[in-house]
Amino acid sequence: MKQQDAALVCFSGGQDSTTCLFWAKKHFKRVEAVCFTYGQKHALETEIARQIAEEANVPFQLLDVSLISQLDTHCSLTNNAIAMDQEKPADNYPNTFVPGRNMVFLTFAAILARSKGIFHLVTGVSEADFSGYPDCRDTFIRSLNVTLNLAMDEQFVIHTPLMNKNKCEVWELSDELGVFDLVRTRTLTCYNGIVADGCGHCPACLLRKRGLEEYLALRAMKNEE
Ligand code: ZN
Repeated sequence: MKQQDAALVCFSGGQDSTTCLFWAKKHFKRVEAVCFTYGQKHALETEIARQIAEEANVPFQLLDVSLISQLDTHCSLTNNAIAMDQEKPADNYPNTFVPGRNMVFLTFAAILARSKGIFHLVTGVSEADFSGYPDCRDTFIRSLNVTLNLAMDEQFVIHTPLMNKNKCEVWELSDELGVFDLVRTRTLTCYNGIVADGCGHCPACLLRKRGLEEYLALRAMKNEE
């Protein structure tokens, strides 16, 4: 049976997808989470995700799609021999880019969701992010949404609550949802696998920190008014 009030969240235990998990809990009666293991160096990531989902009272499922790290070995997130790009190269994506990752994730998520009678999918991609990964763009998401509908003759809706939000605005949303502290202290965004504020120097930490400082300043200003 189709469940109009249910959503499946692509969930990694990071800042963005955790914010999306609670966004989904606000907008849907029933929420489930799917987490992907794709050969990433930090196995801790999936454990963090499982814990947060459990605390949020959200059924959690882990899917292994590590085949993608065997197909392309040029990614620094899955290949220990490659040093991570600290900045975006002028003529290319940073080597933290996993080609096809979001397409694979969302496709598997859709197949899983359909089997549960769920047709709302939620993902934390944002095109306001600096890295500019092609599969985080709105055009791609819309295109894949059409493709999934055609592939399974269904009416999926892919929700992207963070699409136009920068990191500061993502912090703001987590605050509005009442989970600012949870996101700040429990999530794992760091490419070096350190929870909360992370290592402080990898690109993901820098981005997260910059957004947090910006938001804290904004919040302090609002409180003064
Ligand atoms: Zn870090």
